[in-house]
Amino acid sequence: MTFKSLKISFLVIFTMSLAFIGSTAHADAAVKTPSWGHWESSKITYTYSGSSKYYQKIWKSAVKKWNKTGAVKLKAVKSQKKADIVLQTSASLSTQKGLFTGYTNYSFYNHQDEDAEIVSANSTLNRDLLTSFSYTKKQRTNVATHELGHALGLSHSKSRRSVMYASNRYESISHQDKVALEKAYAD
Ligand SMILES: [Zn+2]
Repeated sequence: MTFKSLKISFLVIFTMSLAFIGSTAHADAAVKTPSWGHWESSKITYTYSGSSKYYQKIWKSAVKKWNKTGAVKLKAVKSQKKADIVLQTSASLSTQKGLFTGYTNYSFYNHQDEDAEIVSANSTLNRDLLTSFSYTKKQRTNVATHELGHALGLSHSKSRRSVMYASNRYESISHQDKVALEKAYAD
């Protein structure tokens, strides 16, 4: 049995567009994808909160891709209250650090000897930036898959082949991404 600390912590991970990042990438496909946390169960609910059918389809494709790994089972629910993960879009995301293609924020429990336990997550895509940098539908799906990967507990990978590469635009889920998710939900 594990004991949860009573404190819930918060974290936001921003995802940069390729235009704003330096080149520190590894082309090595064997670079491991890190994870920092996981949900209590591999059965996780989500809802899309938005009116755009176009983006609803993009998020749904991202959900399908993670479900296909077999490591998690994401299930759609209608109400935000019942949803673990809320998926949405925003017209513009800019901070003092720059412009971002998307971001994911969480609340989580800190465990003493193991990974954090995520209790809520919210992933957002920046419609304006994706449009102004002419991301294709497939590339927008890759960014959505990246954000959802964060919402499932994955961190940024140093491998350009990983969907979790910090400024990923071109890649979908790699073998290392699947392995990382399997490991995070192993018990
Ligand atoms: Zn990211």
